[in-house]
Amino acid sequence: TSVSAGYLADEAATLQLGSQLASALLGGLQLQLDGDLGAGKTTFTRGLLQGLGYSGRVKSPTYTLVESYPLPALTLHHFDLYRFNDPEEWYDAGFADYFADDTVCVIEWPDKAAGVLPAPDLVLKLSVDGDGRSYRLHAHSETGHLCLKHFMT
Ligand code: ADP
Ligand code: MG
Repeated sequence: TSVSAGYLADEAATLQLGSQLASALLGGLQLQLDGDLGAGKTTFTRGLLQGLGYSGRVKSPTYTLVESYPLPALTLHHFDLYRFNDPEEWYDAGFADYFADDTVCVIEWPDKAAGVLPAPDLVLKLSVDGDGRSYRLHAHSETGHLCLKHFMT
């Protein structure tokens, strides 16, 4: 199967989803985070980093556009493209160089670089649902399928 879905009752559940996915991550993977402002994209990324063993502060990259976390196994680049006015800014900022075999790129607001970003391996859609959030995780590539398979077992 290529989809995993569920309900996240509170912030702790969003963090847990992130830390659960962390152990299934593979180098070279691009994960796009879809969802409105406040859907939990940054919270999820915080969980991902916790799961990778990072215990420092995780800032939202809203103003810096990217925050990078060099970890023993891989470097995680956390992008927030909300402030892009034009998809071409992806190239201007040199972000294409952030994709490598030993990095994982997590991207909030990927639509802001539509047509410029490479196709994602995984897409996580988060949406407000009652007091919590619902999520769907889709695999879009061979690497994405491998990751999702590992995540679900
Ligand atoms: P985004 O990055 O998508 O704008 P954030 O991760 O900053 O969203 O989260 C916005 C708010 O939603 C935060 O206050 C966070 O604690 C809260 N939140 C995250 N996940 C959940 C959840 N499953 N249920 C309720 N609140 C949540
Ligand atoms: Mg955010």
